[in-house]
Amino acid sequence: MRRFAGVSLCALTVTVCVASSSMSDGPRARAKTVRAGKALAAGQAVAPGRALAAGQAVAAGRDGCEQGGAAARVAHPRDRDGELTRGQAAAMFGDLSRTLRERYGTADERRFDTARRRTLVIPVRFHALAAGRTGRLSGAAVQGQIATLNAAYSGRTGGADTGVRFRLAGYDVTNRASWFYHPRKYQSRFKPRLRRGGRGTLNLYSASVGSDVLGFSTFPQWYRKSPRMDGVVVDYRSLPRGSYRRFNRGYTAVHEIGHWLGLLHTFQGGCTPPGDGVSDTPYEATPAQGCPHYKDTCPQRGDDPVHNFMNYGFDSCMRSFTPGQGRRIRAVWAAYRAPGHGR
Ligand SMILES: [Zn+2]
Repeated sequence: MRRFAGVSLCALTVTVCVASSSMSDGPRARAKTVRAGKALAAGQAVAPGRALAAGQAVAAGRDGCEQGGAAARVAHPRDRDGELTRGQAAAMFGDLSRTLRERYGTADERRFDTARRRTLVIPVRFHALAAGRTGRLSGAAVQGQIATLNAAYSGRTGGADTGVRFRLAGYDVTNRASWFYHPRKYQSRFKPRLRRGGRGTLNLYSASVGSDVLGFSTFPQWYRKSPRMDGVVVDYRSLPRGSYRRFNRGYTAVHEIGHWLGLLHTFQGGCTPPGDGVSDTPYEATPAQGCPHYKDTCPQRGDDPVHNFMNYGFDSCMRSFTPGQGRRIRAVWAAYRAPGHGR
């Protein structure tokens, strides 16, 4: 079975990932074919209109609202802010390329990656919001979430090792029912008060996000303008062994932190280049629903990456990041979250 479909809130800049009908657990995703149209490498030779070089305008095909509208009929939301319109995605890609060039003189992720092979250990400040006893997570539950993050990002669940690890740097509980039950509404209050650390610290909040949405996250490109809002919010029932049916293996945090690290949904942009801008996640027209055994919705090579953490499957369906997503994460980290960033 699996989990969410997408809903774009077109009037806003945010979207929602939605849950869907279920299916049985499918086989592991097949090896994916690299598509030139999704590369983000300065100087890389790619056919016009398919590369995502710095400053390049991305042609608009279907817009995010159309895509989201279709998905919205299917299920209920998984996360907010994760879905972007084509224009928003293009702006993010362009900003990343420009920032990398400014800092390092190149936006070529391959060159960049070979120069930085060290494992990245990210300190996590975990903030549980609660209403009395509800939402008050045990230390073991929080540690379980950290362990799940490390398993997913190291490739132990079946995907590539992204080179990212997580270390719990602090855990606190705040008892305030309004924040707990309406985290989106009150995030501008609790985030500035509770957050610790700087751009390289992950502030992870748990709350009763809702029955339709599992979590929401900021993107690294947003840090400049709203540093105090930086962070990830997940439903307290989505942690490993939580009570959120089909979404209680801790993969909501894996997915949302993927956004915090700069990854887009694998179905971003549908079949239209540059999609999610990552070279080894095949295009897909629609989010995965439940956990399909097989899905191939775009004419480009490669089956839909239904088991990717940046898709919308049930937790039982999610298991992998790709090497390209790992490279993207490390490039984004260097651009926006590494020490010494002046912007
Ligand atoms: Zn998402």
